Amino acid sequence: MSRFLSDKYKNLTAYTPGEQPQDQQYIKLNTNESPFPPSPFAQRLARQAAGDVQLYSDPECRELVAIASEKFGVSKDQILFTNGSDEILNFAFMAFCDKNRPVVFPQVTYGFYKVFAELNGIPYEEISLNPDFTINPNDYTGINKNIFIANPNAPTGIAMGLDDIESIVASNPDNIVVIDEAYVDFGAESAVSLVDRYNNLLVTQTFSKSRSLAGARLGFGIASKEIISDLRLIKYSTNPYNINRMTMYAGVGALADEEYFESNCKTVIGNREFTADALSKLGFDVLPSKANFIFAKKSGIDGKELYLNLKGKGVLVRHFDTALLKDYIRISIGSRQQMESFVQALEEIL
Ligand SMILES: *Cc1c(COP(=O)(O)O)cnc(C)c1O
Repeated sequence: MSRFLSDKYKNLTAYTPGEQPQDQQYIKLNTNESPFPPSPFAQRLARQAAGDVQLYSDPECRELVAIASEKFGVSKDQILFTNGSDEILNFAFMAFCDKNRPVVFPQVTYGFYKVFAELNGIPYEEISLNPDFTINPNDYTGINKNIFIANPNAPTGIAMGLDDIESIVASNPDNIVVIDEAYVDFGAESAVSLVDRYNNLLVTQTFSKSRSLAGARLGFGIASKEIISDLRLIKYSTNPYNINRMTMYAGVGALADEEYFESNCKTVIGNREFTADALSKLGFDVLPSKANFIFAKKSGIDGKELYLNLKGKGVLVRHFDTALLKDYIRISIGSRQQMESFVQALEEIL
């Protein structure tokens, strides 16, 4: 730390991204990326766009907004694209939360919510999960604070039904409810269908997981046009060109190539069920996942040790070193071959 760092950041603990090791080739099942390359059409459009990067990108992302508004059945002023969905989540903390507008989120959830709250000096409360790692919707009904919920949740993979989401949104009309749907394409119900009925709902999604564009950085939010307008205020006050040309066109291509997207999601879901079965047969407790990862533990075996043993065999999974999660490992779902290698490595270790 230099002596120049602002007091307001002196106690900030940054988010810890999953490892991206360079030392050897791993079977990489640790950061919930897609095992598949981007759609060939998306790649082609991105390559074409690379020839025009002497020009600024379109701050309005008009071509992308046009196709997205059609796909998601909302008007163009109800969508905002950002540099990954992390950016729109941060924008939401900046736009809607402050000392008098505190925020709540589950105790076990995406680690960035806490970081964004701290970054922006926002008071926050973490609400415990049920013992089975489900979120209890009653803990959030009429709570009269801003709410961030990942659905499916991370790193559990457990999804909440749309009825429960709706009861949370409906019972907090004077607060923003953000539903982070980073993993929704792997089997959960989307709350996008609720945005026209509830003007306090913001739904965020990402191209990082189901659309194979993690390295391109593309996410978005869907909400009432008033909420989107507030988020645009933040975007245009920080970085109007937050989506670069290659990324915007990759996004257009990825949205256009519906068949490729659907087939990949289906494959991931099939591989998830294959892996969950194999883990159960090996005596693991497997949380019911609707995401592209599985959270599992085996009694008598330390999560960290398992993570290290798998790493030793060239398979990278994620371990969270906290009291509640330390028994578990989180396994991203890859190709069938990758999952077979994972299961084999696991059998050897056990
Ligand atoms: C991966 C993830 C995100 C954001 O990812 P981006 O790459 O920034 O779009 C947001 N929320 C959750 C729960 C995630 O797992």
